[in-house]
Amino acid sequence: MCTLCGVVFGQFRFEHSEDRWILSNGVIEATFVHTERNTFEFETIRHLKTGDIWQAPEGALASPIRFATARTAVDAWIPVKLAGESVQAIDRRGMRQNIILDEVGGGFRIFLALEMYENQPVLRYSVKVKNLRDGDRRVRMADMLSWSFSEARNSFRTLRVSQWSTEPPQKNFEPKETLLKPDFTGEYTRSGASAPDCAWLAIRDAKDRGLFAGWEFDGRTEASVRYRASDGRLQLSAFIEDLNRLLVPNGEFQVPPAFIGLFHGDWDEAGFRTQRFADAVLAKAPPEEARFPYVVWDSWGYQTNIHEAMLRRNADAAAKLGVELFIVDLGWAMQIGEWRQDPAKFPSGLRELSDYVHSLGMKFGLHVAPAEASPESPVVKEHEDWLATEPFSYFGAKPLCLSHRPAQEWIVQQIVRLIDEYGVDWILQDGEHIVKRCTRTNHTHDPEDSNYSNAVEGLNAVLDAVQKQRPKVYWENCANGGSMMTFNMVKYYVTTITNDASGALGSRQAVYGATFPFPIRYTDRYMPENPTSTYATRSYMFGGPWIFMNRLADMPPEELALASSEIRTYKAMRSQLRDSKIFHLTAAPEAGRVDSIQAYNPAADTAVAVVTRDSASQNLHQLRLEGVLADRNYLVRFQDDRRIYVMTGEQLRRDGVPVGLPLLRSAEIVYIEPADRQPVEEP
Ligand SMILES: [Zn+2]
Repeated sequence: MCTLCGVVFGQFRFEHSEDRWILSNGVIEATFVHTERNTFEFETIRHLKTGDIWQAPEGALASPIRFATARTAVDAWIPVKLAGESVQAIDRRGMRQNIILDEVGGGFRIFLALEMYENQPVLRYSVKVKNLRDGDRRVRMADMLSWSFSEARNSFRTLRVSQWSTEPPQKNFEPKETLLKPDFTGEYTRSGASAPDCAWLAIRDAKDRGLFAGWEFDGRTEASVRYRASDGRLQLSAFIEDLNRLLVPNGEFQVPPAFIGLFHGDWDEAGFRTQRFADAVLAKAPPEEARFPYVVWDSWGYQTNIHEAMLRRNADAAAKLGVELFIVDLGWAMQIGEWRQDPAKFPSGLRELSDYVHSLGMKFGLHVAPAEASPESPVVKEHEDWLATEPFSYFGAKPLCLSHRPAQEWIVQQIVRLIDEYGVDWILQDGEHIVKRCTRTNHTHDPEDSNYSNAVEGLNAVLDAVQKQRPKVYWENCANGGSMMTFNMVKYYVTTITNDASGALGSRQAVYGATFPFPIRYTDRYMPENPTSTYATRSYMFGGPWIFMNRLADMPPEELALASSEIRTYKAMRSQLRDSKIFHLTAAPEAGRVDSIQAYNPAADTAVAVVTRDSASQNLHQLRLEGVLADRNYLVRFQDDRRIYVMTGEQLRRDGVPVGLPLLRSAEIVYIEPADRQPVEEP
């Protein structure tokens, strides 16, 4: 039964005498037990360095296993037999504890996987269930975040972040902090494709002892955090909406994985720990370590009025500026859903343009909306039965059902073909409501299980199939903006758009919010306006891939010159941004204020901050930095200002450094590095 019999594998231990698992990676330790009354329970999770402990509530059992059919709930209260357990080393420097439990008299076999990774204060886990009965059963509820803690006499604040949405009420990555009411009413987060929020939440008490959690599911989910002071109970949950999963005899259902992490500090610390985990464990590796996030050009400044001659002129201009990825956006194909080059726009062929872009040293990207097709497209005319019942229309197109197998196979084939035919390095995936609703009864998926099946067996299956066949092609997530901000998304895409070309202020607002849950490379930004000032360029500079969405070929020389020098500045800065802790030094950007955001790289002990005056009255901002070491001397330089300071970390944190912002709308970049690293130059 036990393959390792108490033998230590790393620091995962199973104590036979008590049927207790003690899992540790040297940073955190979590314990679980199979009790004498035959229940499986969570006991504690603790941070070994800060000493913070989170314990299951006494008398109210807790378990990460929680799902239900219409008749029975399977959770911490249900008797289970231990049917097996084992430990294995897994990718990305992780260890996994497998525990197999059989429901006593119930007919479900439960596979629980508990994972920890090197240096991450995070427990990642997932539950899979198997129907051992002779008849069909339906799983109607699954909780991806089933955690309860004993928290007598405490109070909690939570943070969540919205996604991008153009539907009212409009949303642009607003962080929302709430003090939890002590009456168990709770704070609710709705995530997934086209839902209001990112798939993440963070909680902390008055002593800055905190938890963060994320779930790896693109379908719609309702998560909550609730606190009841009367019995000191803190409860988390994240339910898959409208779940109705048919399990035939021996059929299995994988609940999407999720993770819970410990932090001690403020929301920036919660974000930092989440981001380092996501990057190290979940996220798709970027195409090139040295040059990513890329500087990008995208043709949407011309909308669909594109032509090969004009695109060539833009490619020439882009290459001169130092653009690294050239994307042809919507409009290159015959129509949406007919993913063949339009010969009127590309008389020499799209491949010729792609070859030309490559000859200039740039990657070639193409827009595809895999789940959309125009009513006039051949696929809709021939296969009207492939359409989903989703009511939303993307540029007049109809929704294709990605989890209907014939439609899915056709889409995979189309994308692989266009990658090969047109020499594509990068897919800009677009669409709207990308996890489609579909209740058709003649599709291969269950009509009553649209949310889960269209996420996992639809979109994920398409991505799996194409990425397996063409692993060197990288994907950007966009669905008319960043509206699928989940920890499943980061596994398939190397970046995502934040908001959809909504101006300088909107760009800074989106990056401000999205850099709580997500690594900074998951904040690409479309810059629709011309680079007329450093206020414009620097509003787009701090973040992931920087995407110029303007008409380069028609741009005046002075704007091209500014773009060129600002791109050099970005390229010098980007490697520092990528692995840094992000500090949100001011409140979210608004007109009439000065806003600043900082990246601090703990390994190099360097920092960079962008400070922006957005029509504020003052022309000087006292920038107080974070992260720097109190007793160390630092050299402070500016992008524009010629002054150089040497200050201690304590001075930088306490007094700050004055940043001049001479124009009503202006921006400055501040660089901090240890003063002993290089000699101080005369200003
Ligand atoms: Zn369908």
